[in-house]
Amino acid sequence: MGKPFDLTPRDVAPVNTKYRRIATAVPHPDSVPLLERLHAVEPMSMTGQPPIIWHRAEGVQVYDRYGNKWLDWSSGVLVTNAGHGHPAILKAITDQAAVPMIHNYCFPSEHRMELCEALVELAPAGLEKVFLLTTGSETTECAVKLSRTHGLQVGGPKKSVIVSFGNAFHGRTMGAQMIGGMPALKEWIVNLDPGMVQVPFPDGFRVEDVSFDLFLRSLAEQGVTPDQVAGVISETYQGVGPDFLPVQYAQDLRSWCDQHDVVLTMDEVQAGFGRCGRWWGFELYDIVPDLICCGKGITSGLPLGAVIGKPRIMDLYPPGSMTSTHTGNPVCCSAAIANLKAIKAEGLVDNAAKLGPVLADGLAAIQARHPARIGAAHSVGLVAGLQMVEPGTKTPDPDTAHAVIERCFQQGLLFFAPVGVGGGCVKIAPPLCIQQDAIEEGLQVLGASVDEVLGS
Ligand code: PMP
Repeated sequence: MGKPFDLTPRDVAPVNTKYRRIATAVPHPDSVPLLERLHAVEPMSMTGQPPIIWHRAEGVQVYDRYGNKWLDWSSGVLVTNAGHGHPAILKAITDQAAVPMIHNYCFPSEHRMELCEALVELAPAGLEKVFLLTTGSETTECAVKLSRTHGLQVGGPKKSVIVSFGNAFHGRTMGAQMIGGMPALKEWIVNLDPGMVQVPFPDGFRVEDVSFDLFLRSLAEQGVTPDQVAGVISETYQGVGPDFLPVQYAQDLRSWCDQHDVVLTMDEVQAGFGRCGRWWGFELYDIVPDLICCGKGITSGLPLGAVIGKPRIMDLYPPGSMTSTHTGNPVCCSAAIANLKAIKAEGLVDNAAKLGPVLADGLAAIQARHPARIGAAHSVGLVAGLQMVEPGTKTPDPDTAHAVIERCFQQGLLFFAPVGVGGGCVKIAPPLCIQQDAIEEGLQVLGASVDEVLGS
């Protein structure tokens, strides 16, 4: 559960470095009435965000109107992989708007063709069809639907169970939330679909048994037999940690799905497009899923989702029966195409791989200073998290995570609000164009903030 950030302007020490400038009280006094107006007209669920009103964002920097500049370690929410406001993406957007053609559905377009071809080219062999959508949640819903229809076809109505993982996050629409594994989010949904079951995610931290046997045992304990399973869906890494599957587990899962004709979906909404130092996060496991769900970093900014998959699954529905109003919006497609080109041309996947160890080592050093309060410091490529815990336990400590983020915010290092199990995780996800000196500067600020909050 989130909690609000303090809206009282605080006089903080001025900061002026290559990547950060804090020259006023924060939040800026003039922004407070605007934040209050916003809160008055949005649901409470939209509060709890750090109190900075973005004015512009470029590369790894976010600016307000008042002369302050933050080093961004959020990428919005793991969206701007190519960097904020990438010039080639902006040009693609404005060029398309200038044509002008900003909507053409439901008629075919060259943009759809070009983007789908580019995604097939990026995907492993055999995944040859792409269905474009708008959000990540839609892609996971779509994967569930396709898995169930496939199950029906190969095993009849009883083959309809969708298996997902404890603490998983696949979005906030109804079906996506039901395959999610956050107990708090599910308590609000009555009449949960009994055909959606969860097994523990082998994160090696809160779930110590990382053998595939745990998967089999958990299904058996819930009375689910393999012939009842239509699909398994997992985030490639769980956003809450980030937590990665053990390689052996992922490979055993792939074999088990093959053996029982179960559709395996990897939700790459966060992991895709270079975040883990690979184009696809699942490359780390040396497996190929049947369906890939994409969103976020696919455009570095505009709303676009995609399901990429094997034709025998993707082609299950007849003409006109799997569509969506904003499928392949030409402006969003143009942004995506430019984004993929930019990630490739600028070597951003390699940059994430190269800088991953710098980030991981820096976080390990911070954790080593506070072993009883930082339960885990997971880091792969340019995604990482510090899981703050009650002293010497695995119980999440959301207040400490919140305080660390607030302290960093006041010094010009930007994170989104805490995430993860019990809201205890300070999640780290800079744009993939970040340079080593910016990682080092961020680590220094983060480390000092942790020391200050926890007492060193
Ligand atoms: N899957 C994963 C792994 C995600 O991280 C998210 C968003 N955080 C979603 C799905 C849902 O995406 P959206 O918010 O675009 O619906």
